[in-house]
Amino acid sequence: MKAIPLSEWRWLGMPAHFICGHRCRFHLATVVGRVLVSSVGAMPPVGKDWGEWQEVGSGRMCETMVFMAGKPCAQADCRCGVPEIDGDSLDFGAYNDPGSAQEGHAAMCARWASAQFQAKAAEYAKRKAKAKAAEAEAERLRDEISEALS
Ligand SMILES: [Zn+2]
Repeated sequence: MKAIPLSEWRWLGMPAHFICGHRCRFHLATVVGRVLVSSVGAMPPVGKDWGEWQEVGSGRMCETMVFMAGKPCAQADCRCGVPEIDGDSLDFGAYNDPGSAQEGHAAMCARWASAQFQAKAAEYAKRKAKAKAAEAEAERLRDEISEALS
């Protein structure tokens, strides 16, 4: 597994995780090899455009999460390129101001661009696919059993 050079990182302008991502004034999303590094935060209160940042999670106004990057959004009316994610975060950063989130996002991208972490991501994806296949097999067996009993 090789490191992903900065020139191959893909920068996305849409908020890429978090149910209230559309309300976040700070959002930064970068696809680094097999993973998506997504940061959101600086969320004003409902009805306000700016300031009085609300927490996006307990004790933090901004956060970074890392996910396996699935298929990029190619919806005809969007094409934002934000990849599908399954909600299982592989890494996490918490901050209380946008500047720290900016720095934290960059550090997280650098960490996951390394050969070591790209290898971890690949291994994780492999094991997850294996687990999914095992579950499907168990389900098939269960169907077989219930058919034999009927
Ligand atoms: Zn989209």
